[in-house]
Amino acid sequence: MSDSLFEEGGPHRIRRTGGDHYEMSVSLPPDEDGMLARECEVDACSPAYFKVRPGTGITEGQAVMYCPYCRTASDPSHFHTREQIRYAQDLAKDEALKGVDRMVQKALGLGSSPRKKLVDGLISVELEYTPGQRPMVRRPLEEELRRDIRCRHCGLDHAVFGLAIWCPDCGRDVFIQHVEAEFASVSKMLEELPTRRERLGHRVAARDLENSLEDVVSIFEAVLKIITRRNLQTAGKSSDQIEEVVRRNVRNSYQNVASAENTYRDLVGAELFGGISQQEKEHLSAIFEKRHPITHNLGVVDRRYLDRARSGELEGREVRVTGPEVAKAIELSLLVLGSAYRARFPFDGSLR
Ligand SMILES: [Zn+2]
Ligand SMILES: [Zn+2]
Repeated sequence: MSDSLFEEGGPHRIRRTGGDHYEMSVSLPPDEDGMLARECEVDACSPAYFKVRPGTGITEGQAVMYCPYCRTASDPSHFHTREQIRYAQDLAKDEALKGVDRMVQKALGLGSSPRKKLVDGLISVELEYTPGQRPMVRRPLEEELRRDIRCRHCGLDHAVFGLAIWCPDCGRDVFIQHVEAEFASVSKMLEELPTRRERLGHRVAARDLENSLEDVVSIFEAVLKIITRRNLQTAGKSSDQIEEVVRRNVRNSYQNVASAENTYRDLVGAELFGGISQQEKEHLSAIFEKRHPITHNLGVVDRRYLDRARSGELEGREVRVTGPEVAKAIELSLLVLGSAYRARFPFDGSLR
C-alpha cells in the first residue's frame, strides 16, 4: 500500500520527481486512419490544426517540428492539441482518484476485502467501502481533415485544413503539392462523371460538371490570395493591412482571368500568366467565363456573358461546360499558379 496519491510505475510510467511532483508519460492514441493530431501554439496562427502519420517523414532524432501554416519551429512536444491535453489531464485525474481509493482503504484498514467488522457480538457493525465509479477517460476526439499529402522531400504523410505551405517535419515548401492535391480531387470528380450520368441521369452529371468548374475557379482564387498575402507579408505589411488590401483591392478579381492579371500585377508586381501562351490564356479565360452564368443565372446565358466570353452560344440556352474543358482549365491553372508561385517564392532550403 502506498501513502502517496500516485503509485509509481504502471502503464504511464509514473515517477516521483521530488516533493509532490510526479511525472507521468501518456502515449497519445492515433485516430482511425493512424494519424496523430497536432496543433500550432501560436495564437495568431490559423487554422493551426494538422495531422501527421507516426513512422513517416523524419523518424529519428527529430528536434524540431514546423507548423505547416505559419512555419513556427518548435519542439515536437509543443504541438499537442487541446483534446490531447484534456486527455492527459483526465488520465492524471483518474490516477489520482485511484490513489484516493487506495488511501481510504488503507486508512480504514481494509485488506483485499471491501468489508470490515468493527464490532462483533450481540450487535455486529460492519463497515463496507465501495470506491466510487471513476469517470471513463474519453479518448481525444479530433477533427476530420480535408487533404492528405506525402511530402516529396522527406516522405511525411500529413493532413491539413485548407491550403498549407510547409512540411511539418522537414520544413520545406510543399505549397504546390497541396495545390496539385486540391485540383486532383476535382479531377476525380470528373473521372466519375460517366458513372454518375449512368446512375443518376444527365441533370445530375451536368451539375457535377458545373460544380467542378466552380471548384477550379475557387481554388485558382484561393491560391492567388495566398500568394498575394504572403507577398504583402514579405513586404512587411501587418496582418490587418493585408486583410484590408484583400478586402478592398482583391475582392473577387481573382475569379476572372483579365481582372486577375491586373490585380496580380498591381499587388505582386509580376506577370501572372507568364507560364502559358496568349492562346492558352484566352482559352482559360473562356472556360472561366462560363462560370458567370452558371453561378448567377442558373445556367442561362445572359448578354453580359455573351459580351465577355464571345462564345457564340445563343442567349437563353443552357451553358454547356464539357469535361475536357474543365480538365483543360485544371491543367492550365496548375501551370499558371506553379510558375507564378515559383517565380515569387523560389525555395532555397533556408528558413524563409
Ligand atoms: Zn502556426
Ligand atoms: Zn517534408
